[in-house]
Amino acid sequence: MTHVRGIIDDTGDTVDQLYFCSDSCDIYFDPNNVEVEVLQTTLGMNWKNDIARLEPYGGWNGCHEILTPQKCSNCGTTLYHHPQGGENEPIR
Ligand SMILES: [Zn+2]
Repeated sequence: MTHVRGIIDDTGDTVDQLYFCSDSCDIYFDPNNVEVEVLQTTLGMNWKNDIARLEPYGGWNGCHEILTPQKCSNCGTTLYHHPQGGENEPIR
C-alpha cells in the first residue's frame, strides 16, 4: 500500500504530503530531479522558496490507505485508493 512523506513548513507543521508506491521509491525520490513547476502543482505552493520542504526520509512509512487517486511521486505508478475509506466494509 501507499507510502507517505510529509511536506513541512518553516514551523515544522506538516502541510501536505507526497505519495509513493514503495519504500524504495520513497528512499530514491530526489526532489531536485523533479521539475519545479510539477512540484508547485503538486504542492500548491512555492517549493523552492523555503515556504515548505520535504521532510527527510525517516524510515519505512507505508501501508497508508488513501481516498483519492494519486500517482507515485517517484515513478508515476497509479496508486491504489479506497474511495469510501473502508467505512462501508463489513465488520468481520
Ligand atoms: Zn513508485
